[in-house]
Order: sequence, then C-alpha cells, then structure tokens
Amino acid sequence: MRDLEKVGVVGCGLMGAGIAEVSARAGAEVVVVESDAAAVEAGRARLRRSLARAEAKGKIDSADDAMARIRLVTSLDELADRELVIEAIVEDEAVKADLFQMLDKVVESPDAILASNTSSIPIMKLGVVTSRPQQVVGMHFFNPVPVLQLVEIAPSLLTSSETTRRAREFVEGLLGKQAIDCQDRAGFVVNALLVPFILSAIRMLESGFATAEDIDRGLVLGAAHPQGPLALADLIGLDTTAAVADSLYAEFKEPLFAAPPLLARMVDAGLLGRKSGRGFYTYE
Ligand code: NAD
Repeated sequence: MRDLEKVGVVGCGLMGAGIAEVSARAGAEVVVVESDAAAVEAGRARLRRSLARAEAKGKIDSADDAMARIRLVTSLDELADRELVIEAIVEDEAVKADLFQMLDKVVESPDAILASNTSSIPIMKLGVVTSRPQQVVGMHFFNPVPVLQLVEIAPSLLTSSETTRRAREFVEGLLGKQAIDCQDRAGFVVNALLVPFILSAIRMLESGFATAEDIDRGLVLGAAHPQGPLALADLIGLDTTAAVADSLYAEFKEPLFAAPPLLARMVDAGLLGRKSGRGFYTYE
C-alpha cells in the first residue's frame, strides 16, 4: 500500500462526502464518521448519487467498486488504524477543537496526519489542542470536490515539513489533484479573495442596486465567470459563507470581510442555498 491510503473522513456532508468519494475513487480505503445513524444514511445516499453520476458520465468504471471501499460509521473509535484523517464537520472552532482532541486520543499511529478541511479557522488552534501539532495540517478542498482540481495545503507554524510533504503527495500523487501552498491565515488564498467578492455582491443586492439575476449575469457575461457570485454563494451554502466571513473578519478586522445583514437574516431564516432548496434562488 502507498503512504496515506488508509483514510478517515469525519463528516459526510457536502465536503466530507466529496473527499471520501475522491479518495475511494483513487483506490484508498476510507472510513467515514458521521454523528448519528440518520446522518450516515444521508451521507450514504449523497455518495451513491454522486458515484452513480460519475459512472453514468464514464468517469469511473464502477460506482459499486468505489462504494465498497467506503465504510460509514458513527463511532470515532473506528479511526484508530487510520494514517490520515480529514475533518470536514461544521465550521465552528470550539466544535472542531473538541474533535481534534478526541482524534488525538483515538488515532493510534504516531505518524498519522490529522488534517482539517476548514475554510477559515486557524490550523494552529486545532494543532495546539493535540499532542502532535507537527502532524496537523490544513487540507482545503473545493466544492464540488470530485470536479474542482485545487487543494490548498496550509501548515501551521508548528506543522513539520515532512507532514506538509506527505499531505501534498496524497493530494497530487494519490488523488491526482493540484495543490498550492499557503500560510495559516483565515481564508488561505482563494477564500480571502473570493469571500469579499461574494459579500460585495450581497451588499449590491441588499441596496437595491441590481437584481440577483442581473448581478450574476453581469459577472458571467462580462467577466467570463462560470457562475455569478450569488449562485456561487448558494452552492457553497449561505451558513458556510457567513461562518467563513465571520472568521475572516475576526482575523483581519477589515470591513470588506463583514457579513451584510441580509446574509445573516437569510441564514436565520434557514434559506441556506442549494442544500435547503432556497437561497438567492429557488431549487427543486
Ligand atoms: P455540511 O453541513 O454539508 O456537512 C457537515 C457534516 O458534518 C454534516 O453532515 C454533519 O452531520 C457532520 N458533523 C457535524 N459534527 C460532527 C461530528 N462531531 N462528528 C461527525 N460528523 C459531524 O458542511 P460542508 O459544507 O461539508 O462543510 C464542512 C467543512 O468544510 C467546513 O469546515 C467548511 O468550512 C469546509 N468547506 C466547505 C466548503 C463549501 O463549499 N461548502 C468548501 C471548502 C471547505
């Protein structure tokens, strides 16, 4: 077996399912932990749907073969023998820190890497609650994971160069994706640029300057973006967008990262974008 082929993923939502899928498609053996039986079933359905799509498009030979390499469970103890665990749970620093403390106790191999898919929480905060901060690293995938090639690799000040090298080898060598290196700063490279852009589009909508459709069509037709910023926010999830903006604001204290009231109200209302059926647009 190659290095880091025994993969654990915590969380099987939008991102965790994607990470589990691309790992299994690359031949890794994956254990996915969700919080309860209902979430396991939702995660399994998400994985099956996406793998069936990949099979129908001829991207993989067999969805069943890939699915057979993924085991979904509800207990973190099942991660004991993992070489790499990638966390993809809710974007909440306290909740993630608790999880990293537990992973540190559960994952037995002294060489194992504990990675986080966080979009904005400092990797250092997750490293220092473990006994092995040198093996904690940011590994930030993009949505939809099976489609988008980029992964940002973000070592904290305490992450070893060997951990960073192995993380990069997993991303590029095993998964066949492309990595960029960035420092442990909220938002890394892509979100630090993208989130202020999305927030500006929401402010534009909020002020009545233009409709959602026209803002998005403007960027698609005038700047050759594949989709407009409001459709993109719906895809990311408005709760995740707001949480990332809050972390960026807490880190840099710059008004351009401050979430506009409309975004907060929509999250309070449960209008979370595609995943809830309604955000700036309505989905079937
Ligand atoms: P999501 O809400 O779709 O999924 C989170 C999943 O984690 C849920 O299924 C939930 O049941 C599960 N979960 C929560 N606590 C858990 C626990 N203690 N143990 C096991 N499972 C638990 O969220 P998402 O969009 O997949 O985001 C996950 C992470 O990925 C966040 O840190 C987010 O910032 C990051 N991220 C998101 C995107 C995006 O576009 N949505 C992109 C890159 C990174």
